[in-house]
Amino acid sequence: MTLPLDALRAQFADRLQENVSLAGYCTAHTGGAAKVMITVGDSTQLAEAAQFLWQQSIPFITLGSGSNVLFSDHGLDAVLLLNRAKAIRIEDASDHPTVWAESGANLGSIARQAALRGLSGLEWASTIPGTLGGAVYGNAGAYGSDMSKTLVMAEILHRSMGRVSWTAGQMEYAYRSSILKRQTGVGVILSAVLTVSRGNVEEIQAKMAELSEKRRQSQPPGASMGSMFKNPVGDYAGRLIEAAGLKGTRIGGAEISRVHGNFFVNDGTASASDIYRLIVLVQKTVHEKFGIDLELEVEPLGSWQEE
Ligand SMILES: Cc1cc2nc3c(=O)[nH]c(=O)nc-3n(C[C@H](O)[C@H](O)[C@H](O)COP(=O)(O)OP(=O)(O)OC[C@H]3O[C@@H](n4cnc5c(N)ncnc54)[C@H](O)[C@@H]3O)c2cc1C
Repeated sequence: MTLPLDALRAQFADRLQENVSLAGYCTAHTGGAAKVMITVGDSTQLAEAAQFLWQQSIPFITLGSGSNVLFSDHGLDAVLLLNRAKAIRIEDASDHPTVWAESGANLGSIARQAALRGLSGLEWASTIPGTLGGAVYGNAGAYGSDMSKTLVMAEILHRSMGRVSWTAGQMEYAYRSSILKRQTGVGVILSAVLTVSRGNVEEIQAKMAELSEKRRQSQPPGASMGSMFKNPVGDYAGRLIEAAGLKGTRIGGAEISRVHGNFFVNDGTASASDIYRLIVLVQKTVHEKFGIDLELEVEPLGSWQEE
């Protein structure tokens, strides 16, 4: 699609950048160029930008930290809406403390601020390198908890319903999935309220340090997207990849980690196509060996016809 550049420049002025390398905006450090990137600094700007783009029928992708996406080497025809709305507010005066944050706030920052106020419940989220919006959208989770157990209410701008406040029940969460993820493009998460409980600062921080160490020992360093595939029912994608003998397999600059089979690491020279071809190889091999179809957790964005 040809983007209406003049209308976009007039609307967004210096918040708009053109031909931006996507590699700088995702943790895989791959991808071509976004023709247009618009940066928003608070949730009002985020809502106004989404509303404008919907009204003009201009396709767009809301991006948080880019830690769960794989951008194509061919770039993006849609507008990239970069969410830098990061305010965090802790409400701990009542018997039911909560944490409110804008959707571009980093999960680790939210968890650390809550910890400093002696609020427990977000330790699991402290080492996930994404934004609150990405986590609410994808039902991020770790160490026995996830967004479905933590979200009190998400404020969402919905394409057809307007502004809505949805509970975890209304998000219709499933494993690494929500109604917004299943109906791509229908809503933008503006902010969310999370449940926490009173605890002891030192104990919360010790738990966070323990989980961080656990992650350091079980997951590879370097540029990746975290877990590539969802775990199939009753099994682990990483175990299947290892059992298929695929750990350490390379295509170009992309390698299936020797530390954790479900992590694909960019050695600094990988293209998105290298990673995508590894995905296809893994899905084919695991299907042939075990009859299991691995489903992606990471979202490939852009076009992939030639891969
Ligand atoms: C090293 C590493 C470890 C990881 N560990 C975990 C883990 O333990 N558990 C886990 O669940 N995940 C993990 N991840 C994956 C990732 O961090 C999470 O999925 C995270 O929640 C994604 O947030 P993000 O801001 O990076 O989303 P992005 O990658 O920016 O976006 C992901 C999707 O969410 C959509 N989205 C983002 N913000 C909004 C918004 N405001 N409104 C509507 N849609 C939005 C995007 O359009 C896109 O479709 C890991 C990733 C890495 C790199």
